[in-house]
Amino acid sequence: MADYREMWSLLDMDLEKHDELCAVLPEFYGEIYMDQKNRPEGMNYFNMVVSEIHGLRVKELNDGKKDGKKVVGTFCVFVPDEIITAAGAVSVGLCAGSDFWHPDGEKIVPKNTCPLVKAAVGAYFGKTCPYFQSCNLIVGETTCDAKKKAWEIFSKEIDTHVMELPQMKREKNERHWEEEVALFKEKIEEVTGHTITEEELYERIKLHNEKRSVLKRLYDFRKVDNPPISGKDVLLITQIAFYDDPKRFIEMTNKLCDELEERVKENSGVYEKDAPRLLITGTPMAIPNWKMHHIIETSNAAVVAEETCTGTKYFKNLVSEEEKDMEGMIKNLASRYMKTNCAVFTPNKNRIDDIINMYKEYKADGVIYYSLPFCTCYAAEYMSVKEALEKEGIPVIMIETGYGLEDAGQIKTRLEAFLEMLDK
Ligand code: SF4
Ligand code: SF4
Repeated sequence: MADYREMWSLLDMDLEKHDELCAVLPEFYGEIYMDQKNRPEGMNYFNMVVSEIHGLRVKELNDGKKDGKKVVGTFCVFVPDEIITAAGAVSVGLCAGSDFWHPDGEKIVPKNTCPLVKAAVGAYFGKTCPYFQSCNLIVGETTCDAKKKAWEIFSKEIDTHVMELPQMKREKNERHWEEEVALFKEKIEEVTGHTITEEELYERIKLHNEKRSVLKRLYDFRKVDNPPISGKDVLLITQIAFYDDPKRFIEMTNKLCDELEERVKENSGVYEKDAPRLLITGTPMAIPNWKMHHIIETSNAAVVAEETCTGTKYFKNLVSEEEKDMEGMIKNLASRYMKTNCAVFTPNKNRIDDIINMYKEYKADGVIYYSLPFCTCYAAEYMSVKEALEKEGIPVIMIETGYGLEDAGQIKTRLEAFLEMLDK
């Protein structure tokens, strides 16, 4: 990575502490990613993005800011990127996936807060994440309790807009969410000083649909008998989708998919023959949380899909492109986002259907129910998911784990026992 210290210093970062993070990340990434066999050439772009994770993209954001472009940080797949980008702003996903940020987070929120929220708070208040430091606005949502309280903390330091996400999906909740999307548009217009036109919003709806479609194209390759790309690599690509430039991301992912198409024709895969195929469902895995995938894929099993927000929830369902007037587009945006089946909703039967359908579509042999510690919504929903899956004869195991690697050996042992009982 080039020398970005001047930029980081202008962003008021804690350079010394940040150096500690920069020192460990390349080795960590190397161990997890670079030893994979038969990796597609197209992954080189994504390797480069990671090697420049706090450099090149942050420079792009800050060069844009000099030209008046605003940066908007988000934490949830319910926040409509279309509105942010239609106003000429840039959207960056801010979820944090490393325990490096926990000591700073624990100075502010209780120790027993979900690792994702704790890391996000630590990254911001410890001044060790240049994405947080680049934001003009952060957008929260009323999803889980940990997040709701985090927005109050963030709002003391930075302009914070909170979208009120309903907790049910009745007709009146859908109407309410439409109002929230319209209010969000007003907030973005205020922050950017730009009134979004119908043409701009329509163009961005098409762009983000294209991004969703390329991700679907990528995930479809994992349905074949001999997948041409690892789950670890696909997870990384999805994590990068949250902050890369959307047009470049579409171009580079399509390029990779062209290569994968050839690999499928040549029957060139990345796993051992007959490796058990696993579907992961549960809490999101923010970059650089690659722990579960790494444990699975170094245990001779394959991750063939993720029913998570860093998986299919991010791109499933397109926004309808039928309407071109503002009211119609806001309605269509609200309707698409409300189809996301997060565990913060009650009831949430559609998520169970999604898991069962994906199990069949991706030809999985078993399901890993992954939950971060202290995530009550996802942990509690396990009972209903387990019951429904067992009725269908689908093997499932729950693994609750944080970002630290201290329990990796124990998880591997449990996983191996689970793999042994699968019908392969
Ligand atoms: S799990 Fe729920 S709260 Fe978390 S990012 Fe996904 S939709 Fe948002
Ligand atoms: S993982 Fe669970 S507790 Fe953590 S932010 Fe997401 S919904 Fe909230």
